[in-house]
Amino acid sequence: MSDQPGRSSRFPLTLDSVVDKKKGATGRSSGKPATTQVTMQTAARNAALSQARQAQQTPVGRAAPLKPVQQGLSQALRPPQPAPVPAVTRAPTPMPPLLSAQPAPKTAVRNVMTVIQTNRSGHASPQASEAVRRAMVARVAKQGVADAGVLAALEAVPRHMFVEPGLAGQAYIDASLPIGHHQTISQPYIVARMIEVLRDNRHGGRLGRVLEIGTGCGYQAAVLSRVAGEVYSIERIKPLHELAKNNLRPLRVANIRLHYGDGMLGLPQVAPFDGIILAAAGLEVPQALLNQMAVGGRLIAPVGERRQVLELIERVSQYDWRRTTLEECHFVPLRPGTM
Ligand code: SAH
Repeated sequence: MSDQPGRSSRFPLTLDSVVDKKKGATGRSSGKPATTQVTMQTAARNAALSQARQAQQTPVGRAAPLKPVQQGLSQALRPPQPAPVPAVTRAPTPMPPLLSAQPAPKTAVRNVMTVIQTNRSGHASPQASEAVRRAMVARVAKQGVADAGVLAALEAVPRHMFVEPGLAGQAYIDASLPIGHHQTISQPYIVARMIEVLRDNRHGGRLGRVLEIGTGCGYQAAVLSRVAGEVYSIERIKPLHELAKNNLRPLRVANIRLHYGDGMLGLPQVAPFDGIILAAAGLEVPQALLNQMAVGGRLIAPVGERRQVLELIERVSQYDWRRTTLEECHFVPLRPGTM
């Protein structure tokens, strides 16, 4: 409400510094039934795609006929609309960092099983999970992710702790996996790729404040927390928001703030953001998110319905955005409101 923390506010924010969001917030709907199935992107497919990833960059001037960006321009000039603000939840108490981030090996790890051996309760031994995680990182690097900082972050985050115990054995295969409520944990390659694109900025990879739309189980937020100063993440499904809190708690990540609310509205009370990642696909990038980008900031989002592409939007000035279409991808749909 009135107490809106600005760019200069100290981090972490206090609970009182944000307001509760009312249910049933309005937003754009794709108007289609939920797609619950996320197609796996295979390594071979990604390798082919990464080769073909000569991005077609589309500079967007004020008169360029790109609908989402144009809408961004026209609406950005309007007076700010009062928007419902998602409720905030403090992430776990600040404590020591996750695991030490080691530079990812450039060479592929050979002869390592891609499936972790788990015990009866579904828990993997730390050694087994580290070995398969290194192998996963090597595969992601082979698929074209070159940013050593991202690869190190991927290697530091125990993905098996973000999936239910019965699936822990598959946590390091290159696939999205179900996390309940018809949603999925994103595929490691695409998590790494999106963060790499965000980091390819004019600040030499430095990311201050980052916003993620679609916390899900919290995995991507954990990876982001290794390469960004502050991570805000919004989830619209309450049980998943709770799941992410529970998943992140034992990892003691100090710089993540989880919000329950409609991410299509962004978080105007803590904007602007140096980076914004959407983990769910809409037909276009919500206007509010374009407005909440810092000048020089980058937003990466899957856009489309059955056929989806990753789009990079850069805010080049207060009134100009540039859109670049990257590769094909498969995400769950971006939906308005909360549940
Ligand atoms: N980031 C996750 C992926 C989550 S899947 C990971 O680390 O693997 C995408 C998530 O986006 C789902 O949990 C879905 O509920 C959420 N979502 C979809 N539309 C949303 C919206 N408008 N606001 C917030 N979250 C949304």
